[in-house]
Amino acid sequence: MMLIPTHHFRDIERKPEYLQPEKCVPPPYPGPVGTMWFIRDGCGIACAIVTWFLVLYAEFVVLFVMLIPSRDYVYSIINGIVFNLLAFLALASHCRAMLTDPGAVPKGNATKEFIESLQLKPGQVVYKCPKCCSIKPDRAHHCSVCKRCIRKMDHHCPWVNNCVGENNQKYFVLFTMYIALISLHALIMVGFHFLHCFEEDWTNLLQAYGLNRKGPAEARISLHEKLQSLKVSSTECSSFSPPTTVILLILLCFEGLLFLIFTSVMFGTQVHSICTDETGIEQLKKEERRWAKKTKWMNMKAVFGHPFSLGWASPFATPDQGKADPYQYVV
Ligand SMILES: [Zn+2]
Ligand SMILES: [Zn+2]
Repeated sequence: MMLIPTHHFRDIERKPEYLQPEKCVPPPYPGPVGTMWFIRDGCGIACAIVTWFLVLYAEFVVLFVMLIPSRDYVYSIINGIVFNLLAFLALASHCRAMLTDPGAVPKGNATKEFIESLQLKPGQVVYKCPKCCSIKPDRAHHCSVCKRCIRKMDHHCPWVNNCVGENNQKYFVLFTMYIALISLHALIMVGFHFLHCFEEDWTNLLQAYGLNRKGPAEARISLHEKLQSLKVSSTECSSFSPPTTVILLILLCFEGLLFLIFTSVMFGTQVHSICTDETGIEQLKKEERRWAKKTKWMNMKAVFGHPFSLGWASPFATPDQGKADPYQYVV
């Protein structure tokens, strides 16, 4: 999910620029307040669609290949509810991560009036982004995909077609967590399915052929009966033909393994960077810490909201971050 190609480093370099406020004009048509945030980037939109498609594929295999044809209703209902709930939360977190403004600095705000209104003390330095003509608060970086400066930008993630920054990091962390959980759950169910159905089929098959060694007439009847029962058990294990079932399950296995590894590593990295209060970019650039050091718990609360509650796991709960002054400049 990291997308920081080498040319992006040039964009995020912190250079004290001559402000030239006269060259900055606010955008002619600023979007009305409350407009939905959405990045029009072809690659990002394609990746986001692929993400949805992969989750829906897993949903299809879990439901129609494994759970609905199963004879064990309690197993099917419990697993069906858990899997669907986790998949719904994963997709909801994806939407919130994609459609939430990650903390964009107003474009073109480096105007003479704005700089004067900051009432800078002598010796105080402010940085202007030459690309979007905005005054950069501390820890903000310019993203060349979003074409904006983003507060506490961590990285631009094409899978959620958005930057991961101060305002949407919670949704991104939840997205990686729920994807890791549905991948693990799907893998466990595939394991059980193979054990339950194929073991049963193979035992029947072996028994059927084992009986073949008896008297020819008796064996023919037994084999026929056994193969009939085998057919019944196969159709109860899946509504698809055995080769199709195996292919669908193997593809789900690959998908589950790949995403389990990918998202759990991403989840761990994100939680670590939240606890240490250092964004991905700051870690890469080994930036000197200019901001106050807080406890791990305080840093977690700053991202997930005050106080600790069930809302931390909900993509629908907007975290109350109790934000400090959004324009903290380097002094
Ligand atoms: Zn910028
Ligand atoms: Zn971006």
